[in-house]
Amino acid sequence: MVVVGRYFLVSGIFHLVFYVWYPEKFYSRKINKKEYKPGQIRKEINRSNLSAILFGLAGAILLLLWQKGYTRLYENINDRSLFWLPLSLVIALVTQETYYYWLHRWMHIPSVYRVVHKWHHDSKIASPWTAFSFHPVEGLIQAAFLPLLLLVLPMNIYILILLLVIMSISSVINHLDIELFPKWFARSVLTRWIIGATHHALHHKQYKYNYGLYFTFWDSWLKTESPEYEELYLTSSEANKK
Ligand SMILES: [Zn+2]
Ligand SMILES: [Zn+2]
Repeated sequence: MVVVGRYFLVSGIFHLVFYVWYPEKFYSRKINKKEYKPGQIRKEINRSNLSAILFGLAGAILLLLWQKGYTRLYENINDRSLFWLPLSLVIALVTQETYYYWLHRWMHIPSVYRVVHKWHHDSKIASPWTAFSFHPVEGLIQAAFLPLLLLVLPMNIYILILLLVIMSISSVINHLDIELFPKWFARSVLTRWIIGATHHALHHKQYKYNYGLYFTFWDSWLKTESPEYEELYLTSSEANKK
């Protein structure tokens, strides 16, 4: 229930703000200036509910493992150095990025793609509701990541909550099909590693590029970044330059 609630809350807020309340304001930042296919959103919500059950199951398993003392989760902030709080978050994000990048490359092998990943790509133009629209096999592999990570990586419970918030919000931002980040983001050394809506919209359109989750570094190192990325980013973030 919590996972379903989180999905409807985050995707719902983004949908209301960007597509219901202020669509004209953000139209210039819309990446694909096309309508969604009839029935797309309904299909995405149904599939996301299925994923939510799997993520909820992973959460229940994690809770059980924690109670039995098998995980490295800890409650008291002072149990470890305070530096570990941000460091564990960075390690978790980079590990998840690596896990997802290679999982994603694997899911694009044609025989795997047809079974596991096509559901997600049925949304040619992503929407806030696409963020958790996965085939159950993909949902399961993704949901397994955190319980597995926490068997080995010590993490404070509040950092875990922060990580879950980052996961939910970044996924919706990347599927928004509206570029929220300003123009200088793609040029600054500090922010050019962050994936936004333009980067992931190109993945939904071109398939063979932009496999990353939060960061662009794997795509950049392995030359799987779309050659159209920079130009499209500059166009879709044009409205943000002021
Ligand atoms: Zn996607
Ligand atoms: Zn894909």
